[in-house]
Amino acid sequence: MDQIRIKGLEIYARHGVYEEEKKMGQRFQVDAALHMDTRRAGRSDDLEASTDYGAVCRRLEEVLTGNCYNLIEAAAEYAAQDILLSFPLVEKVTLELHKPQAPIPLPFSDVSVRIDRGWHTAYIALGSNMGDRAAWLELGRSGLEKHPACRDVKMASLYGSLPYGGVEQEDFVNSALSLRTLLSPYELLDVLHGLEREAGRERLVRWGPRTLDLDLIFYDDLVLDDPRLTIPHPDLENRDFVLLPLCELAPAYRHPLTRKTVRQMLDELRDRGEGQVTDRKASDLQKTDGYGARR
Ligand code: ADP
Ligand code: MG
Repeated sequence: MDQIRIKGLEIYARHGVYEEEKKMGQRFQVDAALHMDTRRAGRSDDLEASTDYGAVCRRLEEVLTGNCYNLIEAAAEYAAQDILLSFPLVEKVTLELHKPQAPIPLPFSDVSVRIDRGWHTAYIALGSNMGDRAAWLELGRSGLEKHPACRDVKMASLYGSLPYGGVEQEDFVNSALSLRTLLSPYELLDVLHGLEREAGRERLVRWGPRTLDLDLIFYDDLVLDDPRLTIPHPDLENRDFVLLPLCELAPAYRHPLTRKTVRQMLDELRDRGEGQVTDRKASDLQKTDGYGARR
């Protein structure tokens, strides 16, 4: 991807573990690469179509002088996040923060941290089979939309579906979301669990009734296999209640391991004659199960 690069931006700031550093301050330097598509700006020769590097420098100065961190890791982290939130065309930022006057009692020319941060695309499956299901899914959607590190949240239609996994229980309403996020997969999972808790979810029976279930299906092309988090979601190909709404948002998205598209996985599942989705309208399923809405 194209880059706009800033090199050796000098900033006098007060980051450091020692009191002296916080009191006196010292000279820092920033190198930044802003990863963005510059073609539209290049073709139009219009600053509006680009990212104003002067404004980026001023913003870096503001963030790095307005706060006082112990670690240059923290200063770099917050500066990178601020740039990504303030300049919407920037997809990724590589930021190096130099501290050439760091208190090291040996001759040295520089010490620095360098980080890459950026926007990621995530797909999330939503399900509820207690009370006002559509309202629980809406709580999940709006919770993500309000999160400062998430943007472009889009939700598919709602689907009524029969329970899956062998536990006898009420019918579900399912949907899917796509979003862009600055969160890592684990941070995003924590946010999803927080929203499930907000919906009053209790984990009583595995695959049992729930007010709100939020599963991370895809995160860019990442493949992750550990007990806390498996991406892509391992049972994806057998769940039409995930694939159907997902197919509205990203029919051509390819599973990073099988290379099958979402549409292909859905077609194959239908060819096998499997599926949980019914033609009951999501709205017919609400408030019929005795749980009632809990808000
Ligand atoms: P399920 O979604 O299978 O009905 P739960 O919602 O109770 O089950 O989740 C059980 C655990 O699964 C969570 O605590 C979480 O750490 C783990 N998990 C692993 N991979 C994922 C994923 N891709 N999305 C959400 N949770 C996951
Ligand atoms: Mg879950």
